[in-house]
Amino acid sequence: MISFIDIPENSDFTIYNIPFGIFKKFDSDYTAACTRIGDTIVDLHQCMASGLFSKIALPESIFKTDQLNPFIALGKGVTHAVRTILQDALVTGGGLQQLSKQNKHILIPVDGVHMLLPIHIGDYTDFYSSREHATNVGVMFRDPANALLPNWLHLPVGYHGRASSIVVSGTEIRRPKGQTMPDGATQPVFGPTKQLDFELEMAFVIGKDSTLGQSISVDNAEDYIFGLMLFNDWSARDIQKWEYVPLGPFLAKNFASTLSPWIVTLEALEIFRTPGPEQNPTPLPYLQSKGKNNYDIRLSVDIESENGQSLRVSTSNFKYMYWNMSQQLAHHTVNGCNVRVGDLLASGTISGPTPDSYGSMLEICWKGTKPVEMPDGTQRRFINDGDTVVMRGWCEKDGIRIGFGECDGRIEK
Ligand code: CA
Repeated sequence: MISFIDIPENSDFTIYNIPFGIFKKFDSDYTAACTRIGDTIVDLHQCMASGLFSKIALPESIFKTDQLNPFIALGKGVTHAVRTILQDALVTGGGLQQLSKQNKHILIPVDGVHMLLPIHIGDYTDFYSSREHATNVGVMFRDPANALLPNWLHLPVGYHGRASSIVVSGTEIRRPKGQTMPDGATQPVFGPTKQLDFELEMAFVIGKDSTLGQSISVDNAEDYIFGLMLFNDWSARDIQKWEYVPLGPFLAKNFASTLSPWIVTLEALEIFRTPGPEQNPTPLPYLQSKGKNNYDIRLSVDIESENGQSLRVSTSNFKYMYWNMSQQLAHHTVNGCNVRVGDLLASGTISGPTPDSYGSMLEICWKGTKPVEMPDGTQRRFINDGDTVVMRGWCEKDGIRIGFGECDGRIEK
């Protein structure tokens, strides 16, 4: 498939992607649903006004909106049809080549818009599903001989996070203040965190409501998943260390999380399916998943300092996850807990097997004992004020490339 729109080499936004997002025009209150191809935004409301979706029944104004929830809630039958129509219309000679000449509002250069948080997130859950990450943390803080706690290989450990502080890529992050217990001290102190960290994660968006009291089976779980996004689950390690017993993460986690602006659909990711790690011991029957339920998504994390110097601190892959998304969702609902369209479920920090694939500064610098050196000679153990953390994710196979764009957050100076 070749598009009539120019697509830069190594663009995440090829004809095979067709992600969904929400944009706002500069100097205007106009917001609408969109997709992106190359460096061009496609306004779906204008596409609809020009008759592109006339073959499917869509509510009027479904795309003239500041959130995708009502569109996602129409179900995969509709969202997949919209995606296919867009893909067909964007190839050379496709419907949009003519329509976009008649309606000059359909195509917009990407630098003429702001991308907004594309969904209203009702509930956010964070898992802890990377074996390498859980092992590293266990080795650092507990017992190297028993790094994984006894439950870890039997269930996808998770906790309920906070949705109100999830922000879109590009939003500045304020260094959180809180209570910490310095090493050797006997009384806690209050102040800004000295150990601000990122967590490299992927998150998936719920695409269909489930019913309270009913479980989603592991085999049907992907029917409830609309698509994936990049996710930086900012963490304050010193606050976390002092507060987390006995109930787990609280203020060290809920001050901010950064989400990339594009939702890449499961349909687009289909050809990048891959088997997950072997699970031993065999999980209980409700968690047993057959086939290729992991996804080969390459991930990277860069730290950019104020003076524009950049250092790649991690290169990882979503395929390393021990517990896959279907298992996470089956476990989340096995007790009858319901999920709703727009809920966000995050993977937990994604660490690979080698130090260059670790997904947090805590692990990369091994609790501060192995600082990394920026190109300007300054060191980082955690993230400084003025630094920007840039996460990227992309898939490549048989000459087909799709990606997620960037998930960026700068720490306020
Ligand atoms: Ca996390």
